[in-house]
Amino acid sequence: MPQIASHDQVRDSRTQRDVPGGHHVRRTDFIAAPADRPELPQAFLIESTPGHHLRTHFHEVDQFQVVVGGNGTLAKHVVAPPGVHFARRFTPYGPLINGEGGIQFFTLRARRDPGRAQFIPERRARLDEIPDRKPWQVTSLPDFTPAPGGVALNAIPGVSNAQGLGAWALVLAAGAGTTLPDPSAGDGQYVLVLKGSLVHGGRDYPGYSVMWVEPGEGAQAVRAGAQGVEALVLNFPARDQLPAQAGRHAAGDAWHCTLCDFVYDEAAGLPAYGIAPGTPWSQVPADFTCPDCAAGKDGFDKLAF
Ligand code: FE
Repeated sequence: MPQIASHDQVRDSRTQRDVPGGHHVRRTDFIAAPADRPELPQAFLIESTPGHHLRTHFHEVDQFQVVVGGNGTLAKHVVAPPGVHFARRFTPYGPLINGEGGIQFFTLRARRDPGRAQFIPERRARLDEIPDRKPWQVTSLPDFTPAPGGVALNAIPGVSNAQGLGAWALVLAAGAGTTLPDPSAGDGQYVLVLKGSLVHGGRDYPGYSVMWVEPGEGAQAVRAGAQGVEALVLNFPARDQLPAQAGRHAAGDAWHCTLCDFVYDEAAGLPAYGIAPGTPWSQVPADFTCPDCAAGKDGFDKLAF
């Protein structure tokens, strides 16, 4: 039986931590795991104040993060609802810099992180201890366009691999039902209800509610409440396999970030950041930083294909 929790059921778990600069971070646990149970899932909502700045860091487990309110930047990416970020274990990302509205986001993990955020550069040496580390992350936007039949399951671009990673925007019309993608090939599934409500066990779960499905529980039948539902369905990849991601190829010379494996392909350039196609690495401005983890140019090595 999947675990499910609505915001109403967990709001009393909210704690507040004061951070330098007069800022604070509030955390509400939706699915909590005790410190001595690293095999259990962990899901929480973070609400942090405007101006808060979270430095580049990594965790020791795979995780999804879903922005549900506010705005800011994650390295060079704009952070706004309903943005989805997936990071493999031991993949640095950040800094996360809050905008005027602060930022509210969910962190969803199939397994509990044994520690806290590990910051760069202090914990850089920890990354070097991990044999065959294959860092990878992706930032993407779900599409909640409904389907004429009342059931839409729109795949979120870029968030997939052959090891079971997958992410979808689920849109159900009032009372409509469907069967979710099967999580059994990977390490489990979260369903994050954003709008409307999902009916489960005869009860209505409104936004925000979090459901966790173990791999062995298989494909779940779900139904929308009277207002329909918009939700994210997030499947974790299998834990034991870390292949290089598709797309990590370049036609000619390429350079990669030794922290997070972001690839700069000279032929493609980075037009989104003002670097024209065909710009050799030597001509990339000296103040260039990694779009995903903010490492400087000296944190890049030439890639050998
Ligand atoms: Fe990087």
